[in-house]
Amino acid sequence: MPREQPQFKIIRIRGAYRHRATRAAVLTAILQRKLLVDDMQRNFDDLRKRWHAVLQSLAESNWKPLLDAEGDLSTRNLQFMRDCPPFSVVTADKRRTCNRDRICPFCYARRNVMRPFVRMERVLYGPNSNSFRVAGPGSKALPVLRPDLTLIAFRLTLKNGTAWLKTKLTPKTLPDHWEAAKDYIRRNRQYERGFEPEYSSSQIHLCPKPDRIELRRSGIMLVKIAPEKVVATLKRQGMQAIALKPCKKSLFEATTFAFRYPEDIFSKGTNPVMRARLLEIMSSTRLKSWCGIVKDEDGDAKDTYEE
Ligand SMILES: [Zn+2]
Repeated sequence: MPREQPQFKIIRIRGAYRHRATRAAVLTAILQRKLLVDDMQRNFDDLRKRWHAVLQSLAESNWKPLLDAEGDLSTRNLQFMRDCPPFSVVTADKRRTCNRDRICPFCYARRNVMRPFVRMERVLYGPNSNSFRVAGPGSKALPVLRPDLTLIAFRLTLKNGTAWLKTKLTPKTLPDHWEAAKDYIRRNRQYERGFEPEYSSSQIHLCPKPDRIELRRSGIMLVKIAPEKVVATLKRQGMQAIALKPCKKSLFEATTFAFRYPEDIFSKGTNPVMRARLLEIMSSTRLKSWCGIVKDEDGDAKDTYEE
């Protein structure tokens, strides 16, 4: 018997900066509206509707993760991804996450926004980084352990002038575009290292446009050297960049700026067949990079630009 469809009724909205960052980076990006606490149920319901519509178009485009061994639509897989649980809120229904974080907005928030936030937060505040205050009598705000570091956030979207892409984008030429994008990544993967950041987390996101792949490269870094120099160098490379003092509020601003969900991949204007093929082609490549951060249980903190 099929399981009842979960309603994900919100019991509690989590208020810490890390959770607010996921909402600002994903809900605001996709829904394109100001988030009011009283509207959170509607916001998540609307996001789920959008996700279901994207899944439907991926199903119609024969996206492999939605097919069974015979190549037919797997309603089980579809249902599993439809029921991926929301983030940053506590809900009555519990479900397993689908882990398709390149497209699923819920997993994107958990993996691509929350994770870098929490890791940088641990660097700045130590293992009890989730508290705001030192426990005990006379408690005061949790001290920043590394006030000597500056938080830098950067973002570059290559919309035009992508000279490294010459051919017209079609389902057939998509692998060539993907190769060109990877080549760009390889050539630039040492880029952040140039600033000798003590810690960095960067991501690459791709989105098929009618005639090209749009590529977004973004990240956050904790640097010791003169931050104005770093920002000036990044801007010379055509990037948007900001320097912030190391604190929780800055981490909120930095992650929201750098790791905003690439909403174009969700938009109705995106060719659904191209989107499905691009997601398949990208499946063997990890596009997240970490530096300076100790590997944790899930093993995801390695430098993962390599295929
Ligand atoms: Zn998911």
